[in-house]
Amino acid sequence: MNKTPDEPFEICGTPVPRGTRKRIEIPVTKLFDYTGISVPVMVVRGKQDGPVLFVSAAIHGDEINGVEVVKRLLASRRIGKNMKGTLIAVPIVNVIGFNNNSRYLPDRRDLNRCFPGLSKGSLGGQIANTFMKEIVAKSTHGIDLHTGAIHRTNLPQIRACLDDEETNRLAHSFGVPVIINSTIRDGSLRQAAAERGIPMLLFEGGEALRYEEKVIQTGLMGILAVMESIGMIKGRERRRKSSQKETFVARSSYWVRAPHSGSLRIRKKVGTLVKKGEILGELSDPYGGDKILVKAQRTGIIIGKTMIPLVNNGDALFHIATFEDSGAVEEQLEVFEENLEQEYEE
Ligand SMILES: [Zn+2]
Repeated sequence: MNKTPDEPFEICGTPVPRGTRKRIEIPVTKLFDYTGISVPVMVVRGKQDGPVLFVSAAIHGDEINGVEVVKRLLASRRIGKNMKGTLIAVPIVNVIGFNNNSRYLPDRRDLNRCFPGLSKGSLGGQIANTFMKEIVAKSTHGIDLHTGAIHRTNLPQIRACLDDEETNRLAHSFGVPVIINSTIRDGSLRQAAAERGIPMLLFEGGEALRYEEKVIQTGLMGILAVMESIGMIKGRERRRKSSQKETFVARSSYWVRAPHSGSLRIRKKVGTLVKKGEILGELSDPYGGDKILVKAQRTGIIIGKTMIPLVNNGDALFHIATFEDSGAVEEQLEVFEENLEQEYEE
């Protein structure tokens, strides 16, 4: 907690009084023609002080499900004056990548490997540095929204460093059945925030360059559930009844790679339980000959898969997470999907 309750709140020198909503542009760079580029931020400050939560999306410019999640979050009736604390919504962090349908920055750097950044570093380093200073340093909690990389889809899931008690609690409160404990030091925003003692979740779901309704709904409901759990908004009666959500932390995960080049007939979708040795897909030459079965090496749940049926030898095809009781996870995933339809409300 690096904010005391009575402090004025400002971003880039623009104050946001209690009970107001303000759009602020954080300047980051200029294009070749001197067009200014800024990261747009919407700050919603409740009348009462409380936690400061940032929600960011499209740090990978082509991962756009989160952009729609943030849009709907800002439109939600539950977000506004009656909140306790402040929401900092950053729908598009990598503005340049977003405008080019690209994951990367113009110099091909991955912005989510540039954190915590440097004021005199590469463009990515500068954006990261500004983001840390203007957003993360002013927050008490964070949620970063992602999708699978291009031509890959992910089961909606939370990735977080569960060694931290508060992060662990938030990860479970988000409510998605699958949580991946992730402690990798990779220059990501999540790692940089964690190192500053700010509990942060990463939500993954769906595919790059797509709006996927179920993923969007899951992300939005999860953020609202986290806001409830940290006391920013009140819980809803109806939700409380069905909110006995079971969450499962994966023991480990592994990728099944293509044993041969060819075209792949995919037999399984994300969220499916697969047993050790079970067939995930079938590789063959273009005439249907030289069939090779692709099998699961260990029992688990498919949490990610390729969307391209043409594969090279060694390509990552299926991402499978293993659990103590994978059967229970599959069951919970089905319950979760059914409940989502009833619980979702814009
Ligand atoms: Zn991403």
